[in-house]
Amino acid sequence: MIDFANLEAWFVTGSQHLYGPETLKKVEEHSTTIARALSASSVVPVKVVAKHVMTSDESILQLCLDANSSKNCIGLITWMHTFSPARMWIAGLRLLNKPFLHLHTQFSEELPWSTIDMDFMNLHQSAHGDREFGFIGARLRLKRKIIVGSWQDDRVQGEIGVWMRAACARHDAQVLKVARFGDNMRNVAVTEGDKLDAQIRLCYSVNGFGVGDLKQRVQQVTDAQVQRLAAEYDEAYAVAEPLRAGGSRRPALFEAARIELGLRYFLEDTGSQAFTDTFEDLHGLAQLPGIAVQRLMADGYGFGAEGDWKTAALVRAMKIMGHGLQGGTSFMEDYTYDLRDGGRVLGAHMLEVCPSIAEGKPSAEIHPLSIGGKDDPVRLVFTASCGSAVNTSIVDLGSRFRLIVNQVNLVRPEQPLPKLPVARAIWIPEPNLKIAATSWIMAGGSHHTALSRALTCEYLQDFAELAGMECLLIDHKTNVADFVKELRWNDVYYHLANGL
Ligand code: MN
Repeated sequence: MIDFANLEAWFVTGSQHLYGPETLKKVEEHSTTIARALSASSVVPVKVVAKHVMTSDESILQLCLDANSSKNCIGLITWMHTFSPARMWIAGLRLLNKPFLHLHTQFSEELPWSTIDMDFMNLHQSAHGDREFGFIGARLRLKRKIIVGSWQDDRVQGEIGVWMRAACARHDAQVLKVARFGDNMRNVAVTEGDKLDAQIRLCYSVNGFGVGDLKQRVQQVTDAQVQRLAAEYDEAYAVAEPLRAGGSRRPALFEAARIELGLRYFLEDTGSQAFTDTFEDLHGLAQLPGIAVQRLMADGYGFGAEGDWKTAALVRAMKIMGHGLQGGTSFMEDYTYDLRDGGRVLGAHMLEVCPSIAEGKPSAEIHPLSIGGKDDPVRLVFTASCGSAVNTSIVDLGSRFRLIVNQVNLVRPEQPLPKLPVARAIWIPEPNLKIAATSWIMAGGSHHTALSRALTCEYLQDFAELAGMECLLIDHKTNVADFVKELRWNDVYYHLANGL
């Protein structure tokens, strides 16, 4: 359901007529060469399309209008190979509503010491041409990413790739629909928020549906479809004895498969790519969706439990950014602690953790759920794989959305967890639990999070920047005193920046 095949970034090179047609021809050649190289790079996720060299107000304006109306264009990569007087860019940039990246590079990586002459100097002018262009970005107060270095450099290409993935998530948000079955869990504060404000600022829409409509869709699923999906479960997971063919709980597995199919069709019918549910509103459903939610997340759907639409949209954005990368992304909750030796978090949820972060083959199991008063739900049980990850939360502060990103390290459980009937992840937050949790709680970070093994902090920072969202990073450099100051400064900044 996530597909980058049709998406593209436009590579836009600026110049002017002053240098004559020969130089402009060279500029165009170089521009095409760079665009091709970026397009071919394994770390660049979408096609990079070279546009004609821009030499006039009119062509720049037209290009920006074309970008705005292009369904496939995720953003612009701009570069001033020669000097491009930046007043030419005002009309276009003022109207551009796609993200843009300013790549400050030079076609020739090496300075040809023994042969350099004025021809070389006049062609390779980005050292000052890009500064002229940069000024107008600053003067217009435009949001933009600046990446500096050789276009052939792996690190530079990696940074471009990160930004592009963030731009893909921003692109997805323009059409993202979050379906909600039921409201927020009663009395919970942090999962609440302003849905209208989210649509205005973050673009996605949040739409409520009666769980009765979902029930109807579940009832329309045929027995043959259920049998086919149950066979798929048998193949994909280590299915627990009672759930296997002939087992005493096999009907519960069929019911879980029926719920998955109904939910899947419902989301397809409504064009929703993210969703929430709540155990408090399951009227007509036999079980709280467990394996259904887990598998839908694995397919790229965003999810938030207990009506948490902000986290659902965040999981979706992170699924987009992580598409095709190693390591998965899941809805998560800081559940319980081991406070010895500096501290560790055991993250889990009642059921809904995505198997994309699993180590090894998950097992399909059935256990009672102590809340909700429904039948025992079928769920996938596993432990998350080890390594570095980001744990992220989005909260609504009333006047703005705040994204909090914690760099964490997933570790192996110290001992087996034979009685824990849910999927789990164990991690040590950076710089340690004491500082990370103090900062997180001070910032109002939620218990619900999106955890990703595929992404680093840079993806989230780029994404927040594109969305105009505050982003707070908690990593090895964080100390509480500075963090608290950042919170205070940000309050002032966003108060002023928001205006009336
Ligand atoms: Mn929860």
